[in-house]
Amino acid sequence: MSLRSQFPFFQQGPIVYLDSAATTQKPQSVIDSITRYYQHENTTVHRSAFSQASALTDKYESIRANVASFIGSTHAQNIIWTKGTTDSINLAAMAWGNQNISSDDLIVVLGSEHHANFVPWQQLAKLKNAHFKVVNVLPNGDIDLSHFESLMLLQPKLVAIQHCSNALGNIYPVKQLVKRAKKSGATTLVDGAQAIAHVPVNVEDIGCDFYAFSGHKMYGPTGIGVLYVNNRIKHQLTPVQFGGEMISHVSIEKTEFRPFPHFLETGTPNIAGIIGLGAALEFIQSKMFFEASKSSASLYQYLINQLHDIGTVRVLGNTNKNIGVVSFVVEDESASDIGALLNEQHIAVRCGHHCAMPLMTALGISGTVRVSLGCYNNKGDIDLFITALNKSLSLLTL
Ligand code: PMP
Repeated sequence: MSLRSQFPFFQQGPIVYLDSAATTQKPQSVIDSITRYYQHENTTVHRSAFSQASALTDKYESIRANVASFIGSTHAQNIIWTKGTTDSINLAAMAWGNQNISSDDLIVVLGSEHHANFVPWQQLAKLKNAHFKVVNVLPNGDIDLSHFESLMLLQPKLVAIQHCSNALGNIYPVKQLVKRAKKSGATTLVDGAQAIAHVPVNVEDIGCDFYAFSGHKMYGPTGIGVLYVNNRIKHQLTPVQFGGEMISHVSIEKTEFRPFPHFLETGTPNIAGIIGLGAALEFIQSKMFFEASKSSASLYQYLINQLHDIGTVRVLGNTNKNIGVVSFVVEDESASDIGALLNEQHIAVRCGHHCAMPLMTALGISGTVRVSLGCYNNKGDIDLFITALNKSLSLLTL
């Protein structure tokens, strides 16, 4: 069975799906795991006294352990379930930031950040009367390391760093940046939303305090995400939401909370999402996925070469260190016009600022056409895309 045939999405007619950075398609195994849960395993976790519920609790906690080992965390208890990357970063900003950022502290983010790793910190700084500074990007979207260094000399309290750019595909030197930030005494958060399906992630090797990602960008379901928190700072977090599941004892006078990470997981969790994420982890660690990822670099290069042959296309980003995202602009044409014409030819891409407006401003553009590759794409997809792009460009210049 081919890898692509595992994805029912592709059985519904002609579509060239080049939007995996927005969300990946789901393999049948992930869909089946969720169906099986609702059909046969549907109970809740950590509560009921009967055997199905305790079997489910074991499964649920074993997925936490699998996620931990997948990202190189020694302890399952360093993994907090969230709704996704945005939720994870907001949780970090509230559960940690609220207590640990004070007036005149400095928060630093990269100029390439997705809004999810930009706005929560900007707003926290506003709330606390703290300073918020943004590291300049170079014309190819990479970090201006001398500017980063000058900001580190100001001894920031928090440094939030994107692992890979959703808008350009650049892979950032997170280990090096985290190391430098830690030397200045900063707490560090890495946004791994785009990295998780493309590069090996080892949080202990990176050395970050927080690492955030979403299930839906790694072939898993929407509505489930992860915030990894290391042992160094887990005691600095305080509850954000209150209610069931997160307490150990409640009386009229006071409430005692469960230990980390449970006091940050309030209410009935997204059990179906976690089961689906568990199946996605199995998929991403399968031999089939491993084989497919071996050809992803050459597929990306093939796409870049084809685009270079179209004179009016300007490819942005660092194409030497990239996760398979190609962002481009075309002289005198708007990205959304190109996207609309591609859509008519059943080519799915994303156009616009890609939730990275500060990056677009820094690059002096309003948006790009973004083609992002997943494990199911092949050379045939690229050929269909290039033919459709050429047709779109000739229609636009008529
Ligand atoms: N960060 C990056 C780099 C992203 O690409 C995304 C999703 N586009 C997010 C954060 C937010 O992820 P989610 O919408 O799943 O919360």
